[in-house]
Amino acid sequence: MHDETYRPDWVPEDAGSQFACRVMRGREGVRDGAGPASFPAAPPSARRFSLDDYEAGVLAGDRMILSRAITLVESNAPRHFEPAQELVRRLLPHTGETTRVGITGVPGAGKSTFIEALGCLLCDRGHRVAVLAVDPSSSVSGGSILGDKTRMELLSRHPRAFIRPSPSGGTLGGVTRKSRETLLLCEAAGYDVVLVETVGVGQGETTVRSMVDFFLVLVLTGAGDELQGIKKGVIELADAILVNKADGDNRRNALVAQADYNQVLHYLRPGTEGWTTRAYTCSALTGEGIADIWAVVLEFRRLVRESGFFQRRRYLQTLAWVESMAEEHLRNRMAQNSAVAACREDIRRRVLTGDISPTAAARELIDAMEKAFFLPVDVPSSDGARFVRSSPD
Ligand code: GDP
Repeated sequence: MHDETYRPDWVPEDAGSQFACRVMRGREGVRDGAGPASFPAAPPSARRFSLDDYEAGVLAGDRMILSRAITLVESNAPRHFEPAQELVRRLLPHTGETTRVGITGVPGAGKSTFIEALGCLLCDRGHRVAVLAVDPSSSVSGGSILGDKTRMELLSRHPRAFIRPSPSGGTLGGVTRKSRETLLLCEAAGYDVVLVETVGVGQGETTVRSMVDFFLVLVLTGAGDELQGIKKGVIELADAILVNKADGDNRRNALVAQADYNQVLHYLRPGTEGWTTRAYTCSALTGEGIADIWAVVLEFRRLVRESGFFQRRRYLQTLAWVESMAEEHLRNRMAQNSAVAACREDIRRRVLTGDISPTAAARELIDAMEKAFFLPVDVPSSDGARFVRSSPD
C-alpha cells in the first residue's frame, strides 16, 4: 500500500481524501524484547491510567488527569463502576472543606454570564473555582442545553478555574451520583469553590440542591409575569433569589421584581432552616451586585456552620449519595444478567400482545431478578410479623 492512508474496501471510489473513514496507516515499530519499544509514547489523551496515576494526578491538581477521572466517573460502562468508586473512596479524605453553590435559572437568565463574573472575582481573590453543569436535557434528549455554546471565555482561560462542560448525551442514569462524584473529584484537585449550574426546566434543581450548600435562583424581570415564570417549588429550594440584568433601563423593573419576590418569600418556607431567603439584584454584565451576593453566601455559610445545619445537611446529602450508589449497583447487575434480560424481552412481547397483565408481568420480572440475585425478600407473615426469606429457591 503506497497511499498515506488505508482505504477500506467499502469506501466509494469517488470519495475525496477527506472521507471520514480513511484510516491512517499504523506506525510500524519493532519491539526487540530487551530495550524499550520503538513506538513513540502514546499521547497523554490516549494513555491508560492506573488508579494510582489517577489518584496522584488529581491530588496534584493535574487538569488533564482530573478531566479523565471525571470521564471515568461519568461512564455508563458497568466495568468502570468499581474503579470509579475506588478512586472516589481514595480521594474522599481530601474533600469537604469547600463552598458548594448551586445556580439555576431558565435559559437566557444569564447563568453563564453570572458564573463568569463571579468566578473571575473569586479567582482574583485567590480562590480556585470549579464550574460543573448538571444538564437534565442531556439524559432525556441526548442534547445539551448547557454545553453547546461557547461559554465563560474569560473564566475558562483563568489558570485558577476549571470548567467541566455538561456531558453531551449518554448520561443515562445515575446523574445524581455522577454529578456528586465529579464535585468531589474537583475538590480533591484543590478547587475550594464549586459552582454547579443547572437549567430551571426539569429535575436538575433537585439534583443540584442535593449536593450543594447554597442554592441560588437567577431570575429575570418580565412584563409583569416574573412570578409565574418560575415554579414555586424551585423558589422554595432557594437560599437567595437574584434578579439579574439590573442595568440600564431595566434597573427600575429589577428593583420592582426584587420587592415582589421578597413579598412572596415572606409567605414561603425558607430553603434552609434558620435562614431567611431574600431577593437581591445584580448585573452580571457590569458586575454590579456580584460581590454583594458572594457576601450573602459567606454570611449564610457562617450562620449554618454555627447552627450545625451545615454539617447536618452534608450528612443527609452523603446518605442520599449512598442510596444512589447502591441503586446504581443493583441496576447495573440487573442490566448485565442474561436471565433477567431474557425474561424482560419475553414479558415485553407478552405485554404488547396483551397476553399478560402489567402487574403479572412485573411479578414475573421481580421473580426473575430475585432468582438471579438471591435477594433476601421481606415477606409479611399471616400474623402480621415480618420474616426474611433468604432465598427464593
Ligand atoms: P444562560 O442561558 O442563563 O446561561 O444566559 P447567558 O449568560 O447566556 O445570557 C443570555 C443573554 O443575556 C446574553 O446575551 C447575555 O449577554 C445577556 N446578559 C446576561 N447577563 C446580563 C446582564 O446582567 N445584563 C444585561 N443587560 N444582559 C445580560
